[in-house]
Amino acid sequence: MIVILKPQVEQERIAQLMASIERQGVAIHYSQGTQETILGLVGDTTHVDEDWLRASDIVADVRRVSEPYKLANRRFHPEDSHIDVAGKKIGEGNFAVIAGPCSVESEEQLLEVAAAVKRSGATCLRGGAFKPRTSPYSFQGLENRGLELLREARRVTGLPIVTEIMSETQLDDFADVDLIQVGARNMQNFRLLKELGRSRKPVLLKRGLSSTIEELLMSAEYILAGGNDNVILCERGIRTFEKMIRNNLDISAVPVIKAKSHLPVIVDPSHAAGIAWMVEPLSRTAIAAGADGLMIEVHNDPKRALCDGAQSLNPEQFDGLMAGVKRRVAFEEKKLL
Ligand code: PEP
Ligand code: MN
Repeated sequence: MIVILKPQVEQERIAQLMASIERQGVAIHYSQGTQETILGLVGDTTHVDEDWLRASDIVADVRRVSEPYKLANRRFHPEDSHIDVAGKKIGEGNFAVIAGPCSVESEEQLLEVAAAVKRSGATCLRGGAFKPRTSPYSFQGLENRGLELLREARRVTGLPIVTEIMSETQLDDFADVDLIQVGARNMQNFRLLKELGRSRKPVLLKRGLSSTIEELLMSAEYILAGGNDNVILCERGIRTFEKMIRNNLDISAVPVIKAKSHLPVIVDPSHAAGIAWMVEPLSRTAIAAGADGLMIEVHNDPKRALCDGAQSLNPEQFDGLMAGVKRRVAFEEKKLL
C-alpha cells in the first residue's frame, strides 16, 4: 500500500502518522522526493484501513498495490482448493453438477425431480426451502417443511443437499445441510458470513446482483477469516443495461476468479439466462471457461412451477444437457463427480 502525503507537511505530523501505522504491524519505507513524500507500507496490509488513512488531513492519496483479500488469494495459496461436500470433492479437477428445483414445492415434486437428476448423473440436489423473493406476496418457500423434504430426498437418492440460508439464526436448522447456499441477495450480509465463518459447514457463496469480483472475494474472506475454509464461489449473472436476458452471465469472472483465488468456482446459468433454452449454451461456455461445476434449475413441470419456471429445464431437457456436460467435462480432462 502506498500513502502519498500532501506537500509541506510538518515532520512532526508525518512522524505521528508513521508511528500509528507501524503500531498496526507494518513496516514503512519512507521516501521524500522533490515534489512528494511517499510512505510505502510493507508487510501484511490487509488490516490497514484505507479510509482511515484518507481521513488524515496530511494524506493526499492512498493506493493499494496488493489485493485486500488474503486467505482467498491465490498468491498465498497457489494450489487449487477442493471442498469436501459429503465426501464429494468439488474443485481441483473434479466437476460437480448441482441440480434441482428453484423451490421445494411438495413431496411429490421434489422426489420426482431428485430421482430424475440422480438418474441423469447430478452430483448434488438443490432446492430452496426459504426463498428470497422480490415481492412479499410471492411464494416464500415451504420453510422448515422444505428442509424435511430435502432430507427425505437425500435419504431416497443418496444425493447431498444444497439449500439457501437467509439468516444466521437458522444455522441450527441447517446443521445437516451438506452445502449451505448464500444467495446473491445475502452476499454482503456480513453477520451471516461471520457466523458461517465460525461454523465448519461447506458454503456456496453466490455473487451479488451488482457486486464486483473483488467484493465477492471479500465476502468469501469473511467466511475464511472466521476459520471456515470450505467456500465455493458461484457466478450467477449480474445486472447490466441489457434487458433481453434476466442477468448477464459474466463469463470472464470465471478465469478472473481462478487467477486471483484458489477457491472453486461454479456457474449458475439458470439465473443468468432466465429462460430455459439458454441454459445449455451458457453451460457449455462455463465449462470451456474453466468452471468447477454448474448449478441448474430442474422442475418436473416447469409451466406450473411456483418460482422460476421459465428458466427451469424439465427432466428430459436436463438429461440432454448432461450428455453434453459429460463429453465436455471429459474433454477438459476433468472428472464428473
Ligand atoms: C437460487 O439459487 O434459488 C437463487 C435465489 O439464486 P440467486 O441468489 O442467485 O438469485
Ligand atoms: Mn431460482
